[in-house]
Amino acid sequence: MIKNRLEVDGLRPYIPGKSIDEVKALYKLDKIVKLASNENPLGCSKTVKERIIAYLEEPSLYPDGNCTNLRNAIAKKYNVETNQLIFGAGSDEIISMITKTYVAPGDEVITCAITFPQYKAGTVQMGGTIIEVPLKNHTFDLEGILEKITAKTKLIFIANPNNPTGTMITKEAQEAFLKEVPSDVLVVMDEAYVEYIRRDDYPDTLKNMEQYKNLMMLRTFSKMYGLASFRVGYGIGPADIIEKINRLRNPFNVTTAAQVAALAALEDTAFVEDTFALNEEAKAFTYKKCEELNLEYIPSFGNFVMINFGVDSQEMFTALQSKGYIVRPGNALGMPMFQRVSLGTIEQMDGFFEVVKEILKK
Ligand SMILES: *Cc1c(COP(=O)(O)O)cnc(C)c1O
Repeated sequence: MIKNRLEVDGLRPYIPGKSIDEVKALYKLDKIVKLASNENPLGCSKTVKERIIAYLEEPSLYPDGNCTNLRNAIAKKYNVETNQLIFGAGSDEIISMITKTYVAPGDEVITCAITFPQYKAGTVQMGGTIIEVPLKNHTFDLEGILEKITAKTKLIFIANPNNPTGTMITKEAQEAFLKEVPSDVLVVMDEAYVEYIRRDDYPDTLKNMEQYKNLMMLRTFSKMYGLASFRVGYGIGPADIIEKINRLRNPFNVTTAAQVAALAALEDTAFVEDTFALNEEAKAFTYKKCEELNLEYIPSFGNFVMINFGVDSQEMFTALQSKGYIVRPGNALGMPMFQRVSLGTIEQMDGFFEVVKEILKK
C-alpha cells in the first residue's frame, strides 16, 4: 500500500447531490427546478454569452495567467492597486490557496459552525486544527471567536452573509472585532453574496483594509453574476499578503472563458439590477408563503433562505426531489429540520410551495 499523508485520513470527498439528468431519469420527469446551490435563476448576462461565442474562435491558447484585463477592471471598480488582487477558479480555490500559504500542522484556524465547509476542508488538508465557534442566533459570533484566539491562531474565516443561514454581521460589529484581533492573525471576510445587500450597516471591508493590514476579502462571480460553471472568484487584500498567496497559485488557474465571461459580466450593470430586484421579490414572496404555511424561516441577506419544514430534512428533500425540486437538505449542513432553498423566479417559488403544501398534507 502506498502511504498517504496523515492529513488525507481526516478528509472526506465532497459529495454532490444528484445531477439534474440523474433526477430526471430516476423520477421520469422532464422539468427540474434546481434551488440547491444559490445559482442565479436568470442565468447570466447576454453580453457574457456573446463574448464567449466570440472567444470560441480561438480556444487553443493558454489563458493569461495574470488575468490582466479582468484585474485592471476590478482594480478600477474598487479603486485598489492591481497587486492587491488574486484570482481563482472560484473563491473556493482562493480559500485553499490561503490555507496552503498560512496553515502548518498544529496551527489553528477559527470560524463558526455552521458555515461554508471549505474553511474547514482547507485547514484540515494542511494539518491545521479548525476551531468552530457555534453560531449565535444563527449569526457569526465574533466575541466567541475572539475568546478562542491563541498563540497558535493563524486565520479567521468569516462568511458575511453566512451560508447556509443567510445572516449578516454589521459594520459596527466588524469594526469592534477588528480592533481586538492580533495583527499576526489574518482575517478573511468571505463576501460571496455581497451584491445582494444594499444596506448602510453592511461592513465596508475595503475601507477597513486601509487601517488593518491583516484583513482581506473574497468575492465571486458564481452568485449574482450567474457564472458558477466558469469558476472565477477573487480576493482583495494587502499587497504583501496577496504576493505570498500568489506563490501557491497554479499558473493557469483561471480559464480564458472564465476571464472573458467575468469581464463581460462586470460591464452589464442592468443584469445585476434585474437580479437584485428579482431576489428581493422572490424573498418577500418566500417569506409570505412560509408565514401562510406556518413554517419557521431564518431571515436572509443572501439569495437563499433556510426553512424549517418540521420534518426530517432527508425525507422532505427526497419528497421534493421526486416532484422535480432540488434543494439542499439541512442534515448535510448540520440543521436536520431545515432545507436551504435558493431563491428562484416567482413562478419557480410558487410551484415549489404548491409541492410543499401537497407533501406536508400527507
Ligand atoms: C458559493 C460560496 C462561495 C464560492 O463560490 P465559488 O463558486 O467557489 O466562487 C464562497 N463562499 C461562500 C460562503 C459561498 O456560499
